[in-house]
Amino acid sequence: MNKKDLNRREFLNAASAASLAAAASGAIPAYGNVSKKAGKPAILGGKPVRTKAFLRWPVWDKSAEEPVLSILRSGNWYRGRGDTVSKFEEQYAKLMGAKRCVCTVNGTNALLTALNVLDIGVGDEVIVSPYTFIATYNVVFGSCALPVFVDTDPETFQINPDKIEERINENTRAILPVHILGLPANMDKINAIAKKHNLVVIEDACQAWLAEWRGKKCGTLGDLGCFSFQNSKHLPCGEGGAVIGNDDEVMDRCYSYHNCGRPFGSVKATSGYPIIGTNRRMTEYQAAILLSQIKRLEKDAQKRTMNADYLTSRIKDIPGILPAKFYDGVTRAAYHLYPFRYKKEHFNDIPRSRFLSALSAEGIPCSSGYGPQYKDGVVEAVLNSRNFKRSFSKARLAKYRRELHYPENDQLCKEAVWFTQNMLLGTKRDIDDIADAILKIYENRDKLS
Ligand SMILES: *Cc1c(COP(=O)(O)O)cnc(C)c1O
Repeated sequence: MNKKDLNRREFLNAASAASLAAAASGAIPAYGNVSKKAGKPAILGGKPVRTKAFLRWPVWDKSAEEPVLSILRSGNWYRGRGDTVSKFEEQYAKLMGAKRCVCTVNGTNALLTALNVLDIGVGDEVIVSPYTFIATYNVVFGSCALPVFVDTDPETFQINPDKIEERINENTRAILPVHILGLPANMDKINAIAKKHNLVVIEDACQAWLAEWRGKKCGTLGDLGCFSFQNSKHLPCGEGGAVIGNDDEVMDRCYSYHNCGRPFGSVKATSGYPIIGTNRRMTEYQAAILLSQIKRLEKDAQKRTMNADYLTSRIKDIPGILPAKFYDGVTRAAYHLYPFRYKKEHFNDIPRSRFLSALSAEGIPCSSGYGPQYKDGVVEAVLNSRNFKRSFSKARLAKYRRELHYPENDQLCKEAVWFTQNMLLGTKRDIDDIADAILKIYENRDKLS
């Protein structure tokens, strides 16, 4: 039967019967909200799958109001005149399963603190992933050390653990794995390599609250773990961060360092200030917001995982849609973002940018995620700075430049599609809308190219 021989209604029925049959045979999935199926793509003037906005982030409740107001009215705004920051540090360490926690002004400064107390600085090399928020390597450059990139594993979006060892040399001091998008990096392999080469491990867990590797929380798997509590994060207070760890002496140094280098615990002074320090102290009202936010963290995390799993089940069989995979050791993912790879060859070669526009037009906000930032001007600017020119030999900088090739990462940057975490906090119907919109674009791929 020819398409022209059918009227529109019959055609839709036939098309939907075909897609149901395909779904039954495991080829492509059916629609979730059947009433919204097929039709003309919204980008071509059709009715969008969704018009309702997704949940707005951050979400808060009244439990924050009284504590914030009473701190405001007391005038005791900094941690030296209150116990709110200390209270949160205790709760957070306990929740993470870490011995200690020191809060900082933000996640970037948590990372800088960790690098400082572990004595990473001029001339050192730190292994990092190129697929991350810029802060992960800004802090290494900021410590006058070189971030040495290791190519990305496109299936997991994480650092490829099998390519780490070839980048280690006598200058390597640390591995700085990031659990990017809230999905755990391969910590078994990373820790084994660190042990073998006597390197410290600082986890950038700034997107990975409550994520787990073999039942242990991300951020407790290396020497120190760093977190962010920025506005967009799962545990937000505007700006905020924390370093967690189990070594009392190292954590005493964190505290002392973040508090202008004043004596603290094992960091003792014969007179005045024992170590060089800075001021990275969190304020009391930031901590008051966190004490309220921490109450919802677990419940939100469960919802995100449930919805993310459902989304994966709905879209994994659409040709050309490849959700992120997990390593064997992952026992929990935090889904700060929901990522998949878009393979245009299965979508009649519609470029990713067109796919993203079509998806947005259906009422589904989405983005292409990180670009290959190591190609941005920042790396060259740093290598050409006075600081770096006098800290590294010409030969080392030349070698560093020569090695800036990460083909798998570049390919991933061309294929990635992200949804933000707040989209995973709604109902099953919200998730059906996301999946239906992708399916609708897939079924209309011939019209969209
Ligand atoms: C947010 C974030 C940071 C930095 O945290 P801020 O609190 O914004 O300074 C570092 N690394 C990653 C991966 C992040 O997502």
